[in-house]
Amino acid sequence: MSEFCSNCYNSKDTMRDKIKTIAFDADDTLWVNEPYFRETEVKFCELLSSYLPADQVTKILFETEIKNLKLYGYGIKGFMLSMIETLHHITKGNHPADLIPEIIRMGQEQLQKPVEILDGVPTVLEQLSGKYRLVVATKGDLLDQQRKLKTSGLEQYFQHVEIMSDKKANDYSKLLKQLNCAPGNFLMLGNSVKSDVLPVLELEGYASHIPFHTTWMHEVHETEPVHPHFLKLNTISEILGHLD
Ligand SMILES: [Mg+2]
Repeated sequence: MSEFCSNCYNSKDTMRDKIKTIAFDADDTLWVNEPYFRETEVKFCELLSSYLPADQVTKILFETEIKNLKLYGYGIKGFMLSMIETLHHITKGNHPADLIPEIIRMGQEQLQKPVEILDGVPTVLEQLSGKYRLVVATKGDLLDQQRKLKTSGLEQYFQHVEIMSDKKANDYSKLLKQLNCAPGNFLMLGNSVKSDVLPVLELEGYASHIPFHTTWMHEVHETEPVHPHFLKLNTISEILGHLD
């Protein structure tokens, strides 16, 4: 069962009353994403298995990704460059020549993965569209996210799509301004407490956490917030009980 946090003073009805715009995170909220990164990472660790154990390769790759985030932003292309940099770092440049083309091939393969829609998503969008303004608010590579949205068959439900370079309170603030939407009329749904929930609550918007089984280390936030505008859901379908 979904529930509002313990000190919540908003009834379901007031929320249903207030929300006008609903923004959906895309990766691991609308469709599968993180497991594909982990699959590529496992293959990358196998490529480097004669140099270092997998856990150490993973650690160095993660540190490289975080160091590069401010330069590359989020998404697969930055991940590919970080894998190449990690390869160079671990082998000190002394590696078989075909490893770099192999890493590029793995990244390109990931960029062409089929879009796997998560359970309940089409029904939720179908039910809410027409009653609320629906928006996509996601990080990631622009071209890749556009491709996924197009192939997903979900594009028709959204009145606005925002591919964001980051999801801090300031980024949401800009989005709300663009949408001409007050924070109190805005609900964000997503799988990351850190990126989809906390910054929206900071602006006094409404936010809902829908957990996904795999979360990138960088997005992990151990505790869930205590805030009257926070709504915890177990599945995306549960939002219909609060809004439909
Ligand atoms: Mg996500």
